[in-house]
Amino acid sequence: MNLELSEEQTAVRQLAEDFVRREIAPYAAEWDRAENVDRSIVKKLGSLGFLGLTVPEEYGGSGGDHLAYCLVTEELGRGDSSVRGIVSVSLGLVAKTIAAWGDERQKRHWLPRLTAGDALGCFGLTEPGTGSDAGNLTTRAVPDGGDYVINGTKMFITNGTWADVVLLFARTNDTPGHRGVSAFLVPTDTPGLTRRTIHGKLGLRGQATAELVLEDVRVPASALMGPEGKGFSIAMSALAKGRMSVAAGCVGIAQAALDAAVRYAGEREQFGRPIAAYQLVQELISDIAVDVDAARLLTWRVADLVDRGREFATAASQAKLFASEAAVRSAGNALQVFGGYGYIDEYPVGKLLRDARVMTLYEGTSQIQKLIIGRALTGVSAF
Ligand SMILES: Cc1cc2nc3c(=O)[nH]c(=O)nc-3n(C[C@H](O)[C@H](O)[C@H](O)COP(=O)(O)OP(=O)(O)OC[C@H]3O[C@@H](n4cnc5c(N)ncnc54)[C@H](O)[C@@H]3O)c2cc1C
Repeated sequence: MNLELSEEQTAVRQLAEDFVRREIAPYAAEWDRAENVDRSIVKKLGSLGFLGLTVPEEYGGSGGDHLAYCLVTEELGRGDSSVRGIVSVSLGLVAKTIAAWGDERQKRHWLPRLTAGDALGCFGLTEPGTGSDAGNLTTRAVPDGGDYVINGTKMFITNGTWADVVLLFARTNDTPGHRGVSAFLVPTDTPGLTRRTIHGKLGLRGQATAELVLEDVRVPASALMGPEGKGFSIAMSALAKGRMSVAAGCVGIAQAALDAAVRYAGEREQFGRPIAAYQLVQELISDIAVDVDAARLLTWRVADLVDRGREFATAASQAKLFASEAAVRSAGNALQVFGGYGYIDEYPVGKLLRDARVMTLYEGTSQIQKLIIGRALTGVSAF
């Protein structure tokens, strides 16, 4: 793999860095306190092509390769993980999955709107009773005439209250486990679908996380995406690429922690010298720097494998596992450099730590990533 970025990749990274400096960084703390990102950011992200990366241009996408996508995701994560998550879900989990699995009509209907930021997508897999064990979900879609009637509850859905469409996973037959699961594209204004914002999150406070309740939600058979019974494979293929995007966002968090720690260590004086002069402070900073580089290289490797059409799922789990744990470690180390000032929200590192914490939980916990990696190495599944 060539680690030199192309001109196009360098340009898109610069575009993202400038956008974050102008449109995100000045407001991130305010959005965090208000528990609400300014929704106008979605259209701005769309206008710059950040919601259409890797999606074919014929469907309104902005093209580009997966490394470019990771570079943008990293910069967004560096600025505000709440904004990064909007992109990772609407583009990474929904639009890219429609591009891969949708029929022509579904692609023509949803992709131009999603990539332009005129519509937002959410990914409805988790339920109150099934998180890691998603294959045992209980939401049901029952055929009725030419329609399906859907009943169930989805939990912790990112973009949930903002989204125009939910990529929803529901059971269409009684085959136990994941084989009975199908994927649907359900407009969120369909009668019977209600949404409740989940407040009080530790981090990602600006994000619209919601519980979705579906009571006799009637959709036409054309809402089915991909073959009936293939929903779990669709969800897993989406999450494999999604983990690359989470990993890239975590690199952004760790890089932000490094930037903040280096800056503060040079400014803060104790015992008559900048704390940067003390070896134990340098140790904290160098640990962050190594985590940033290692996480970034693991993430870029996934992008390279995807772009070359190679198998990437295990590498994506490795990148997500390492980068998410590294983001938590790095934000914690940065907070240590800040001392007591790190503990108050006038400074950025407390938010980095709160935002980082969920990265080891969602899109598969660290334990689940280890089981995926272990399965690939041993050939034995723990699930
Ligand atoms: C802010 C936020 C946003 C989210 N966004 C979305 C979204 O957009 N769409 C969506 O569908 N979901 C979303 N989720 C859900 C997320 O993916 C789940 O929370 C996650 O998969 C874990 O499921 P759970 O919370 O039910 O934990 P559980 O599965 O109950 O796990 C609890 C603990 O048990 C461990 N565990 C479980 N099974 C095993 C095992 N076999 N071996 C070892 N340990 C095990 C886990 O690692 C964990 O430590 C989001 C969650 C949060 C917090």
